[in-house]
Amino acid sequence: MSRRAEIAAGLAAVKERIDAARAAAGRDDAVGLVVVTKFFPASDVRLLVDLGVREVGENRHQEAEAKAAECADLDLVWHYIGALQSNKAAAVARYAGVVESLDRPKLVRGLDRGAAERGSPLDVLVQVSLDPPGAEHRAGAAPDDVPALAAAVEAAEHLRLRGLMAVAPLGEDPAAAFDRLARVRERLLADHPHADRLSAGMSGDLEQAVAAGATHVRVGSAILGSRPAVR
Ligand SMILES: *Cc1c(COP(=O)(O)O)cnc(C)c1O
Repeated sequence: MSRRAEIAAGLAAVKERIDAARAAAGRDDAVGLVVVTKFFPASDVRLLVDLGVREVGENRHQEAEAKAAECADLDLVWHYIGALQSNKAAAVARYAGVVESLDRPKLVRGLDRGAAERGSPLDVLVQVSLDPPGAEHRAGAAPDDVPALAAAVEAAEHLRLRGLMAVAPLGEDPAAAFDRLARVRERLLADHPHADRLSAGMSGDLEQAVAAGATHVRVGSAILGSRPAVR
């Protein structure tokens, strides 16, 4: 099978899963698909665009920056979904259309500066940690810190608060974790009704995320194949 056919098959299967999950949840709104291209070459990004994909996700600044430059001729929105260092935030804002992983106030200033330099507002999602309290910390702000972070994004001239992003913790039923996420989202929407995006769900748990109201899923391996376990 050609690489194009392989990707086309993965894409079709994932779209079917999303549609089935929407039907099961009784949803008739659209669920956006962000294809996570980390570790895969720019040539795969070109094939994806050829197959109709317009939104791709990356989680490492250096790799993302290089790939975005290689694909500068394509009509694409790059989602930055990885850990952010405050000294790289402005650089990320130069190629990203959406930053999904804002998880501390320190990042706001750099993102805002990068967005100002490129001359267009940057869409931002606040990343929420769904780890049970006391668990070893993974990425994301604690749910109680979300209101202050959201306010900081709103106060930044060149940033637009669009909603929340989360990753289900390992070793827990993703449905339970996404249920907590839905409650964090309700609280956010009470203060910021326009911040209605919810980016949740990956190859292994997109059904549970769609059931919990995800407006976007981020899918890599189910479309592009498995990545090396450690990188
Ligand atoms: C890698 C990654 C994904 C995609 O994971 P798959 O299991 O390959 O679908 C989604 N979200 C984030 C934040 C990631 O780092």
